[in-house]
Amino acid sequence: MLWDTLTKTETRINFLIEHQCPQCGAPAIMEETDRLFACKFCRVKSYLEASDVFRYMLPSTAPASKELLYFPYWRFKGMLFSCAGNGVGHKFIDVSHQAIAAPAFPVSLGLRSQALKLKFITPETEGRFLEPTQSLARIEQNFDERFDKTLPKPVLHHAHIGETISLIYAPYYVKNRLYDAVLNTPIAAAALDTSEIDQLPDEKPHWRIRFMATLCPNCGWDLDGERDSLVLLCKNCTSAWYPVVKGLKQIKFGKQPSEDKNAIYLPFWCIKSNIKGIELQSYADLVQVANIPKVVQSGWEKMDFRFWVPAFKIRPKIFMQLSKNMTLSQLHNELTEELPKNRHHPITLSITEAIESLKINLASFIKPKTRRTEILHGIDIQAKGFALVYVPFIEQHHELIQPDLQFAINKNIIALSDNL
Ligand SMILES: [Zn+2]
Ligand SMILES: [Zn+2]
Repeated sequence: MLWDTLTKTETRINFLIEHQCPQCGAPAIMEETDRLFACKFCRVKSYLEASDVFRYMLPSTAPASKELLYFPYWRFKGMLFSCAGNGVGHKFIDVSHQAIAAPAFPVSLGLRSQALKLKFITPETEGRFLEPTQSLARIEQNFDERFDKTLPKPVLHHAHIGETISLIYAPYYVKNRLYDAVLNTPIAAAALDTSEIDQLPDEKPHWRIRFMATLCPNCGWDLDGERDSLVLLCKNCTSAWYPVVKGLKQIKFGKQPSEDKNAIYLPFWCIKSNIKGIELQSYADLVQVANIPKVVQSGWEKMDFRFWVPAFKIRPKIFMQLSKNMTLSQLHNELTEELPKNRHHPITLSITEAIESLKINLASFIKPKTRRTEILHGIDIQAKGFALVYVPFIEQHHELIQPDLQFAINKNIIALSDNL
């Protein structure tokens, strides 16, 4: 039995966030990736939504008399994929970076923040909030450029998948010098020219987290989900719901049935698409494109090609392997329109993120690899439709095994995916 060593990121914890139940006001602590909040006191469940990104602040230990200055940092936690040279590269990153180019302030949050409890910023929060002037796209381009330096050339394509993006505001104050208000210590030894800081644009903290009721829009029943679920299920009327900005949207789903009592269902996005630049419409085309050692049977040209992508976060290497193996096998088994009664894994990777991974998925199986370098640039994939499909994996001592694929995942890796 081989054990994978834990990466630095997986052994780190999520940020913890202190907040209050919107219903009864009881104090609560949640994890950064939590979306479904169930109050221990009043038992009311609600789903958290931000209009764009979640904004948090670090706690201050500065003397109460100091006027706080909140400086924004972009936080990016997720997978970077690239098609480079003859391979597909991947990396998990967890980084923060200044959202304003201001040399007086530390360029990132550093590691200290991992141990602190954050709070949501509300319109009532006091202090001066500096306005982010560096776009996230600009910062992400930085990550790509740094990642590219480590990759074989040519670099053909990039994707950022399954990322958690937030703005974290760190408190500072000025007393001749610039002070870090988290640690209550000066940042630089030299006296500061405060006019530079005074000129930075600021804004009112007008952001508020929305708490949405989790009742089934169809039948009024209480929806089910894990704390980090992006899809909520109604066991009463057998429906699945995806929170969007203006409420809950129903989604199509299916299950590949299994008689095995040790089955655990893992969720996948099954995606129909228009692909330009390569002939890939049917299972017969796939056999050609991926050079699968099978003789094309009659009828295969009528079986539509679908992409399969895990609907849950998992370390990048396994994410890639699962996407590729599921897509190559095209699982043609009949699906039932049922929700799994057995244990099932929550949906923690959105359909939007899954769609971003399609080109990487395709690049992972085009053969010969030299052909990929020639044609990848001209390939365009437009998703047309999707469904959520629960696929059974059979639990064994250390692994979950998908019998049709003969694919095994270490149970430990699934358990650790909570931190991604
Ligand atoms: Zn409550
Ligand atoms: Zn219902």
